[in-house]
Amino acid sequence: MIRFYALGGLGEIGKNLYVLEKDGKILVLDCGLKFSDVPGVDFLLPDFSYLEKRAKDILGLFLSHGHEDHIGGVPFFLQKVKLPVFGSRLSLELVKANLGSRATEYEFVEVKAGESQKLGPFKLDFVEMRHSIPEALGLYVETDEANIFFTGDYKIEVAPVSGKPTDFKALASIGERGVDFLLADSTNAEPAMMWNGGASAGDCLTEQQVYELLAKEISESSGRVIVSTFASHIDRIQQILKIAEKEERSVAIEGRSLIRNLKIAEKLGYLDGLGHRIVTSQTLESLPREKQMIIASGSQGEPLSALVRISSGIHKRVRLERGDKVIIAAYPIPGNERAVTDVINSLLYKGAEVRFIHSSGHPCTGKDHQLIMLNLIKPKYLVPIHGEWQHLVGHAEIGKRAGLPGENIFLLENGDVLVYEKEEGQPRVKKHGIENVGALIVDGILSKVEAAVAIKERMKIGSEGVVIVEAIFDEEQRAWLVDTVMLGVVTDSSQSSVSQTLNGLITRMLNENPPSDQKEIEQRIASTVKDYLKGMNQYPEVVVRLNSI
Ligand SMILES: [Zn+2]
Ligand SMILES: [Zn+2]
Repeated sequence: MIRFYALGGLGEIGKNLYVLEKDGKILVLDCGLKFSDVPGVDFLLPDFSYLEKRAKDILGLFLSHGHEDHIGGVPFFLQKVKLPVFGSRLSLELVKANLGSRATEYEFVEVKAGESQKLGPFKLDFVEMRHSIPEALGLYVETDEANIFFTGDYKIEVAPVSGKPTDFKALASIGERGVDFLLADSTNAEPAMMWNGGASAGDCLTEQQVYELLAKEISESSGRVIVSTFASHIDRIQQILKIAEKEERSVAIEGRSLIRNLKIAEKLGYLDGLGHRIVTSQTLESLPREKQMIIASGSQGEPLSALVRISSGIHKRVRLERGDKVIIAAYPIPGNERAVTDVINSLLYKGAEVRFIHSSGHPCTGKDHQLIMLNLIKPKYLVPIHGEWQHLVGHAEIGKRAGLPGENIFLLENGDVLVYEKEEGQPRVKKHGIENVGALIVDGILSKVEAAVAIKERMKIGSEGVVIVEAIFDEEQRAWLVDTVMLGVVTDSSQSSVSQTLNGLITRMLNENPPSDQKEIEQRIASTVKDYLKGMNQYPEVVVRLNSI
């Protein structure tokens, strides 16, 4: 029996974690994180609790490539489940850099495109894919019951600026060997008629066009150029360094993760020998402005990032001046649009010119990339993965255009289990077959992982405020004393009168009609507060603390 399900990545962009099971043996595909727009939450992780319970059945973890939405959860997952990690050299280097000194405790298996591995009931073939980071791999999985192809993230690239074009031959030969299930990247797909009767073509630039635009903007600039992109977007950084070389600009790097990733990229030979263009910030400052270039983190408007600090004038070294040009070479990830818009506004206000130049590393729907993949792989069944619901539905439509019957396309949510038994024929879906597919949150420098319920509380407190009631039982007087503190519930001026009213209501309730046990006391205090504030249209979180003297 084959089972496929996701603990993250379906109905969302981020925290990709897919699971393939064959007769109870498990292969995990990717283990990523998701950036969070919840106040105070750094990022979200898939809930690993189901896999923790199944730890002894897990044979390994395959990493398709080194982006955070595919590898960012690995350090946390490895703490819970020990297992060998398979991936390309670059993916593994990035994971190890994340693990730091703990990296030696775990087993890493470096694999290359074109190689095969046997892992229990799975035969694995690693396939080169084009994406915005080198060494991205697709995975062809053969079992005695069904064959599966997992694309990882990909785009179709025929004339890349560096590296090789899409390996159509390898993909077509997998199609020839036979694919039952295609698990494929849905990013950028959308229902064809959703916008203005199909007006949006979902078109995108080629990498060559992006490179030419970047080169033009940089060469036309007579001031300093700041380019902001993802730390893991190594292809884009290669292009920027190439242009810096041509324009004889020196480059300073601002942002910790950028510096770390560039070290790894240089070690593995991905800076095309252009590492000498990189100088310290001090050296850069001593050069004329038209010779200066900065690659800065913060393309998503992340609060503490270099670009945000530059735009708000609090960066230690970099001061914006009129005539500086800022090129944002990344799209906002859904959820980050507001933060990115704020950065753009501050940059423009300070007199900088702002440009957006980017092309997605994912399939370009307007150029039929998903359709091309379907035609090469010729699967019997399609499972759209890696996308919000609009992308998954859009991808399903493309599947139909490729000639797949609707019942052979499976729109799954995180936790739904697709079950296939050869003698049964048609696969079936067990809705919500896996429970606990919420998120874990990672919060602050302590990397404290909490259950998602904490997020809900935090959001409630953030939007509705909090009331803290302290009730003290005076043993001598045999009476209750109550004090209420409110944050973000009512205006400052009405604060004390509302508190007094609440204190009075609670004290009377407790003294006149004493509840029997502690739990009941807490519940009745909370409902007294809630009932009263409901009349004022306020629905805060209520915290009750009991004490006695
Ligand atoms: Zn990616
Ligand atoms: Zn991804």
